[in-house]
Amino acid sequence: MRKVIGTTHFDEAFAYDGDDLGAVYTKESTKFRVWAPTADAVSLNLYKEGDGDNLLETIPMEADERGTWVCEKQGDLNGRYYTYSIRIDDAVNEAVDLYARSTGVNGNRGMILDLRSTDPEGFEEDVRPAFVNATDAVIYELHVRDLSSDPSSGIQNVGKFLGFTEKGTVNSQGIATGLDHMKDLGITHVQILPSYDYATVDESKLDTAQFNWGYDPKNYNVPEGSYSTDPYHGEVRVKEMKQMVQTLHENDIRVIMDVVYNHTFNTEESWFQKTVPDYYYRKSGDAYSNASGCGNETASERAMMRKFMIDSVVYWAEEYHIDGFRFDLMGVHDTETMMAIREALDKVDPSIMMYGEGWTSGDAAIESSLQATKNHIYQMDRVGAFSDDIRDGIRGNVFYPLDTGFVSGKEGLEERIKFSVVGATENQQVDLAANENSGNFWSRQPGQSINYASCHDNLTLWDKLTISNEGVSEEDRVKMNKLASAIVFTSQGVPFFQAGEEMLRTKPLQTEEGGVDENSYSAPDATNSLKWDNKGNVLDVYEYYKGLIAFRKAHGALRMTTAGEIQANLTFIDGLGENVVAYTIENSPNMEIAEEVLVIYNANKDKVSVPLPEGEWEIYINGEKAGCEALGTAAGSVEVDRISAMALTRGISENAKQTGETPQTDSHGGKSDSLVRNLWLCIGGVCLAVMGIFGYKRKRNNAGKETKR
Ligand code: CA
Repeated sequence: MRKVIGTTHFDEAFAYDGDDLGAVYTKESTKFRVWAPTADAVSLNLYKEGDGDNLLETIPMEADERGTWVCEKQGDLNGRYYTYSIRIDDAVNEAVDLYARSTGVNGNRGMILDLRSTDPEGFEEDVRPAFVNATDAVIYELHVRDLSSDPSSGIQNVGKFLGFTEKGTVNSQGIATGLDHMKDLGITHVQILPSYDYATVDESKLDTAQFNWGYDPKNYNVPEGSYSTDPYHGEVRVKEMKQMVQTLHENDIRVIMDVVYNHTFNTEESWFQKTVPDYYYRKSGDAYSNASGCGNETASERAMMRKFMIDSVVYWAEEYHIDGFRFDLMGVHDTETMMAIREALDKVDPSIMMYGEGWTSGDAAIESSLQATKNHIYQMDRVGAFSDDIRDGIRGNVFYPLDTGFVSGKEGLEERIKFSVVGATENQQVDLAANENSGNFWSRQPGQSINYASCHDNLTLWDKLTISNEGVSEEDRVKMNKLASAIVFTSQGVPFFQAGEEMLRTKPLQTEEGGVDENSYSAPDATNSLKWDNKGNVLDVYEYYKGLIAFRKAHGALRMTTAGEIQANLTFIDGLGENVVAYTIENSPNMEIAEEVLVIYNANKDKVSVPLPEGEWEIYINGEKAGCEALGTAAGSVEVDRISAMALTRGISENAKQTGETPQTDSHGGKSDSLVRNLWLCIGGVCLAVMGIFGYKRKRNNAGKETKR
């Protein structure tokens, strides 16, 4: 049997497409169906609790259609736990249902659950904050523990989903932390590091110090128990994760899950392997292929793995109201599966975001032409990928700590930055040959390019700038950080940043030698936590990020939705000298208010003078500040400070004039005119925000080694 597993013949004979896999609960009875076509016998074990010696009953299951096994148990089983005993030849594997909706402590037994009883009050009325285009998103990447694990957070539910539900929390200086901080910052989406049930934190020892990012999946359809206030009672983690989503939604923040279907923590001991040996993993000869760098890789091209992934994301989207999915090592999956997921999520809500890492961490045992890598993003409508072009272009290569980037003085990166400004979409003004990182315009539409300078992987932006700029003053490194963020937030595409970047986050090693951690996947809280007390020390940086977000929200010109719009409206300004990139955007159909936007990035250690197109311009971003309040005016030319960005605007759009959405600026003159308009720009930005119009995974293998692609 093993020889034919994973072949198309096997799928033709056995693939099951029903929607009743798992434990289907009603108050009267629960029906079980498990797909195990290679089994000789299957039985259901019912337990009173999620762990311990309390087996209630073992019920033989009947062989049913297409390799599935079924049984039905009368009575109200809500709160009972279960496993399957799957006999294959002489071996009997006890496995948790792949479709289990919750588990006991450490995920070793599935739970039969009345899901409606887990809904927090008002959850039926919970709605996703309004959101249409991917380019309107501002994504904030955050680990559940990191939010609240430093005492300076002022959050009561340390390391828990419920930490996201606390309002009014402050640091020792009385400055907002947690939820209030995120809301004030203006993000539209929070991307939460893995929060399905993962293996490496012992949920029975939560009073001892433990930490893991969570890229070690155990139960894909179950929240992580250590993030709940009671991992022993499976209904608690379900309810508390829903409370997190509900509260974030009430505060106009959508929630994206980081999903890791590309591998499992264990291979031989995984529920996949114990249920249908060798079906869910790719092999290369006799060995498990290892494109994840974690010991195995799953086989999305097989019917039941593909179905599993589709069913899983749809379940999270429907049951927990999750608003987006970030696919870890998406290049391990095949494009057909990713498009099938897109289609399935569109039926739930087309505004649900999908993007991932367009690479693998080793060679995959599938034809490269089929892989959902960055080079194949072009084939996958509304599926995005992280842009390592902009990341490394801005800060330097993530694999070489000392390498610098555009903001830190590396020469010759102008075309790379231009490539990033257009969201990696086709553009004749960009010299592709000068961007050594990408041989093609890989993004079909800007919404497919996830633009960032830092994420959980590798050095934080601040640590990278520190390590790669020895002898450079802190003042200049802050300028570099501000320029980096200005590039991310003014580029076409989807801005994304690691939580705490706006507070110059660092990940200090907890050793006597000091230093910082570039792979903190299992480092202590003291390394990983957000240090809220630092917010007060770097408030100007925080305000800068907040201002960049507000400016982006106020100007549709920065959020164009098609490559064609960018080609038609964005014009690079030539002849400005080295290490300067500048462009104007005019006549964009998405421009609600301002008629024309001009953006300049000056990475030189001297100021530069940039000639301006005719007319008077208002400055909204400079090296010091960013936002919707004019910082001054300029005509003829403008001086751009050393290592800084500048953004200017002028005019009122034709659209706005026609719809009368702007104030009667004609009745005012001079400075007051612009002040009134500035006020409206800000109000407009806030309104639009409210309306919502608005690596490579370095795999954490045991050696902490990493590879790319
Ligand atoms: Ca767990």
